[in-house]
Amino acid sequence: MAGNNIIVVFDFDKTIIECDSDYWVVQQMGATKLFHQLLFTIPYFNTIMRKMMKKLHKQGKSIDEIVEVLKQIPIHPRVIPAIKAAHALGCDLRIISDANMFSIETMLKHFGVREYFSEINTNPSFVDEKGTLIIEPFHNFRNSSHGCTTNTCSPNMCKGLVIERIKACDEGKNKRIIYVGDGRNDYCPSLKLKENDFAMPKKNFPLWDLICSNPLLIKAKIHEWSNGDEFEKVLLRLINSICSGDDIKSVLSSADFIKPNHQVVPVSRYRWDKDPWSSDDD
Ligand SMILES: [Mg+2]
Ligand SMILES: [Zn+2]
Repeated sequence: MAGNNIIVVFDFDKTIIECDSDYWVVQQMGATKLFHQLLFTIPYFNTIMRKMMKKLHKQGKSIDEIVEVLKQIPIHPRVIPAIKAAHALGCDLRIISDANMFSIETMLKHFGVREYFSEINTNPSFVDEKGTLIIEPFHNFRNSSHGCTTNTCSPNMCKGLVIERIKACDEGKNKRIIYVGDGRNDYCPSLKLKENDFAMPKKNFPLWDLICSNPLLIKAKIHEWSNGDEFEKVLLRLINSICSGDDIKSVLSSADFIKPNHQVVPVSRYRWDKDPWSSDDD
């Protein structure tokens, strides 16, 4: 199939879904006060959520209640059709997220797209015999550091290492990666992308700010998006342009698409044969 040389890697929170799934559960369970108390003493989200789930269970909240809350999570109506279309075009879809496996699988099954993803890289989690959701770190930082020195990664997860592993498994097949994300921890994997890859940062979110602070550090071509409509439009346009070979015609790097005022140009203006600044064919 046309897209079978493309791997699309998605962040989950605020990328596939509209909000942060951990915080959504905290809010819907009426536990924001407790969450902020823990945040005051524990700097890591992963450790906080592990403690939060134990406390919620002690308060009598069942796993079924958490599942129901996760099923209510807000998602833009164009995101699922975009995922299905990318899959139908032959792309290999994967997730790298600092949420947890139980939450992500619950939501993806609810959306009817679990089987569309070949891989979910996230914090392992399971429901123990008492019915408590136990969340473990993706990288066990109590034993050793994951070794990444990019200061935007949390101790329990370096998404950049996952991208390096995906690239190492590629073994000369030269698959193209499209990375879609919004957060600080999506910066390290964006730095690992190569010239033939694409970064899709969510506009005005931390990843976009970090990229804009020094666009020359990113080798991949950058295509911003702001909402679910653009998520679908930009992603499918990129996939189609890779499939048709149109993107190869461009000899410009990401830096060429960023104005001095750090505005990243929308994909619709990305035309190899046009002046990217004068085009208005949105
Ligand atoms: Mg995110
Ligand atoms: Zn890292």
